[in-house]
Amino acid sequence: MDSLEQLVALDRQHVWHPYAAMPNPLPVFPVKSAQGVRIELEDGRSLIDGISSWWTCIHGYNHPKLNAAAQAQIEKMSHVMFGGLTHRPAVDLAKKLIDLTPAELQHVFFSDSGSVSVEVAMKMAVQYWHNRGRPKKTHFLTIRNGYHGDTFAAMSACDPINGMHHLFSGLLQQQYFADAPQVRFAQTWQEKDIESFKRLLEEKSDRIAAAIFEPVVQNAGGVRFYHPEYVRRASELCKQHDVLLILDEIATGFGRSGKLFACEYADICPDIMCVGKALSGGFMSLAATLTTTHISETFSTGEAGVFMHGPTFMGNPLACAVSLANLELLESYDWQKKVMQIEAQLKEDLAPCQALAAVKDVRALGAIAAIELHNPVDIATVQPLFVEQGVWLRPFGKLLYTMPPYVIQPDELNTITAAIYSVAASL
Ligand SMILES: *Cc1c(COP(=O)(O)O)cnc(C)c1O
Repeated sequence: MDSLEQLVALDRQHVWHPYAAMPNPLPVFPVKSAQGVRIELEDGRSLIDGISSWWTCIHGYNHPKLNAAAQAQIEKMSHVMFGGLTHRPAVDLAKKLIDLTPAELQHVFFSDSGSVSVEVAMKMAVQYWHNRGRPKKTHFLTIRNGYHGDTFAAMSACDPINGMHHLFSGLLQQQYFADAPQVRFAQTWQEKDIESFKRLLEEKSDRIAAAIFEPVVQNAGGVRFYHPEYVRRASELCKQHDVLLILDEIATGFGRSGKLFACEYADICPDIMCVGKALSGGFMSLAATLTTTHISETFSTGEAGVFMHGPTFMGNPLACAVSLANLELLESYDWQKKVMQIEAQLKEDLAPCQALAAVKDVRALGAIAAIELHNPVDIATVQPLFVEQGVWLRPFGKLLYTMPPYVIQPDELNTITAAIYSVAASL
């Protein structure tokens, strides 16, 4: 076996990491195992995970119920193709998703990652209009500061500056970008916030298949909490202008924002919804695209007669079984109370950060909090500072943020917020 130094050297030389250079000049920390809210490093250090492995492991690592579901499913089959075959894990999970999401969403398309669930949603919207004899509706309306994934269609709807669209300009479809919402979650709604979205619909709806955005919380695009009325008005306007509404709940879904789905704040139902991230509790990659009967029933009469998509690992039984166990776990306790307690503590613990010179803004909603700085953080210096304090956080841009597992205890959360304060104070 290679020594730890060799492992890190091989990794640096050969293994690409997310949004990283090659060879990788930034530190990477080898992990031995993970348990509950803790990541155990190979060098013996133990870190409290303040971002739930990119917002996924809401019930912590190595959860006995998820492990048991995985083991039971492995005994039967870990995978079988989905073309022409079906199985209980996929059907049971689809039923659970239909029960949890708004009532009109009745049909589930499983895929392997959030980005692909967005591709599926966008393709579904375009093909829907084709089915309905309106093949010119092939573009999308979205809002600035959004994030929808790294594949090409998903990327075309991401913020054009954050996503460096100019690098891929010949390849990316040009979408319509409304101004990002400015009225914050708890502020007084102002109708002018929706003006730019409304204007684009009025001018371009003949070409627009769907609007796509993250409801209430723009996560990777800047951890911005905006007014639910924006979502409600956008939904209304889309209906008026014959444009579908795709809500990307990949980050917000399954309780993260304080509601089971963030669209509940606006009391609306999209035509298409994407879920992923926390779906399997961080156990493995699974995502889904849900839609209504009105949309799905157009496919059998359209030119293709079917929806033109079908991933090899679609409906993977192992991922479905674990995800079902994760959703049952979520339903087995008062998750909303827990998320609200996390929100209250985040607000209280982080309030003193507001007085720090480096800090521009402090905000929290549900189990999400962000400290916005005046200047971008240097990850190479900041990451080791957090590790020294026994916490795992992954700042980006001007943001120090936390999205802890729901099972975190108050003292553990305090370790995270104290580390954020001390790092922000050192900047
Ligand atoms: C993470 C994320 C995606 C992409 O999901 P992947 O699983 O990384 O492909 C899409 N939309 C939102 C809102 C996300 O947070």
